[in-house]
Amino acid sequence: MVSVIARYAGDPMGGLTMECPECLTDTMAPRLTTKGVELDECRTCGSIWFDRGEILFYVRAIRTFDQALADATRVSSIGDRCSPVSNAPMADLVFPGGGTIARDPETGGVWVPGNEAASLRHDGALDIRWHAGAVTGAALRFRMPNLVSRSIFTLAGLYAVLSLVLITMSLYAGLSAGACLLIAVAFAAIQFAIGPFMMDLMLRCASLSRAQRTL
Ligand SMILES: [Zn+2]
Repeated sequence: MVSVIARYAGDPMGGLTMECPECLTDTMAPRLTTKGVELDECRTCGSIWFDRGEILFYVRAIRTFDQALADATRVSSIGDRCSPVSNAPMADLVFPGGGTIARDPETGGVWVPGNEAASLRHDGALDIRWHAGAVTGAALRFRMPNLVSRSIFTLAGLYAVLSLVLITMSLYAGLSAGACLLIAVAFAAIQFAIGPFMMDLMLRCASLSRAQRTL
């Protein structure tokens, strides 16, 4: 993550995209995985860039993959694709199974072509699940409480209790109809006056409790 921030901070364009080694366009952009880590994925061809060691978080058989990676590195040859990070020509790593990925000799990062990423994910060798929703700050997003239904239920409940109290008082305590009406009107006026404040308080409590659970 730190290297990602450092890399993008140095981008003179100020953007978050990198050049895809395959498409040769700035179509590689960060995308959040369900593990909470951002990987760079090409929006056009689906190729994925992993910073050094990052790919091991997504590989099912880590030891087998690590060994294959070491073997492939020994017999690797410099290919014609350049690293999206260092711009150095990358080494093509051919796996025993026939798949080919590329490794940046300068940063140790690994680039997986789109078709390779698709077949590795299909085989279950690479377990990448994209986080649904926005890329940044997604972890802090939360569902707003349903204020409409909550308000309606709260108000209906309040006025039901108030009606019951007023009916009881007029029947058994000799409260006049005019006094009952006056109390009801006063109650409604107070409710409308402090309603917005209560709503604001409700939202604050909801977001605060959510933030405490997240952090
Ligand atoms: Zn691409």
